Amino acid sequence: MSSVSRATQLASLGRPESGWANTPIIKGSTYLFDSLAQWRAARAQRDTDRVLSYGARGNETVYALEDAITAIEGGYRSKLFPTGLAAIATTLLAYLKAGDHLLISTGIYEPMRILCETQLTRFGITYSEFSPTDPHWECQLQPATRMVYVESPGSLLYDMLDLPALSQICKQRDILLCADNTWGSGINYQPLNLGCDISIVAATKYFGGHSDVMMGSVTTGQDCFAQLEQASINLGQTVPAEDAFLVLRGLRTLELRLQRHASSALRIAQWLDTHHAVKTVFHPALPGDPNHALWQRDATGSNGLVTIEFDPDLSSKKIEDAIDGLHLFGIGSSWGGYESLALPADPQRTRLRNSEQLGYLLRLHIGLEDPADLMRDLDTMFNSIT
Ligand SMILES: *Cc1c(COP(=O)(O)O)cnc(C)c1O
Repeated sequence: MSSVSRATQLASLGRPESGWANTPIIKGSTYLFDSLAQWRAARAQRDTDRVLSYGARGNETVYALEDAITAIEGGYRSKLFPTGLAAIATTLLAYLKAGDHLLISTGIYEPMRILCETQLTRFGITYSEFSPTDPHWECQLQPATRMVYVESPGSLLYDMLDLPALSQICKQRDILLCADNTWGSGINYQPLNLGCDISIVAATKYFGGHSDVMMGSVTTGQDCFAQLEQASINLGQTVPAEDAFLVLRGLRTLELRLQRHASSALRIAQWLDTHHAVKTVFHPALPGDPNHALWQRDATGSNGLVTIEFDPDLSSKKIEDAIDGLHLFGIGSSWGGYESLALPADPQRTRLRNSEQLGYLLRLHIGLEDPADLMRDLDTMFNSIT
């Protein structure tokens, strides 16, 4: 499979060998066996293999999506979860135990840090943070560190980590390296190929791609899959077949959509970079972004996320009134769908680098609309501020 091009791969993943072009939606809890012997054999086999036995453990539709994501991420196997956050939470509970320490990068998806703070600490799992820009980050490792968890690029300032370098140190010390790959969505960036043990994607974003489904995936190498699967079963994690079908449908156009998101976002980022109301534009594909070199080395594409820091002389009130006047950008959570979105980012809450020095931050998701129309809308916003 890896020898064919990405576009060809996306057109063939998770399809039945014959008959229907798409794997149909299977609904079911009870799976029937012809005899007790067959039932016993399936139960014995399911500890090591994927066999149909009970609805909570998946069915043909779910397996088709698992296989497709495994191929995209370049892993051994994948598990699916009802949200991206459920995927993160189950991963942490799968590998960590009381007494362990977890090291996380700053600027990660905020609910993940809240999960560490409000759940993990109650189970005796400690955590601390390191900055993606800290060259001496390994000084933050402790004897009890069991996992390093990063988001690369982060989803607000797009700070990238040198995953191959991190992985070398983690491997020496027998520490698991886990990456949130939602930004890269498997095709722009491949943490497992860059040395990570575990890659998590909020499939709610670009995998689904249409703002109509919630899901998360975790893909691992062979060594650590069994623990993830056990935790997933223990915690009763499962996804509806309709949702798996929708995400698999989204994957068919993933590369095409990302190319459009990325080219529009770069064009808009370059225009924003010259605008007098904008102090900084954060977008790793933009030459001049501090993450551009690592992005060029490790990523194969970009996406629709662009964050801007307004000129610090502008008042927040004026900025927010102007944001309310946008017509083509929706105000709402999430990103990765077909449509453009705008939402302020609080640098204190998300603990971004140099958060004290950052001005008003607005994260834009550049959707599939015509970029010229989007620029006109943004220009109207700027004109109403200044
Ligand atoms: C959205 C997001 C998540 C969580 O996904 P949900 O499906 O909303 O739970 C996790 N990580 C990142 C980077 C995200 O952007």
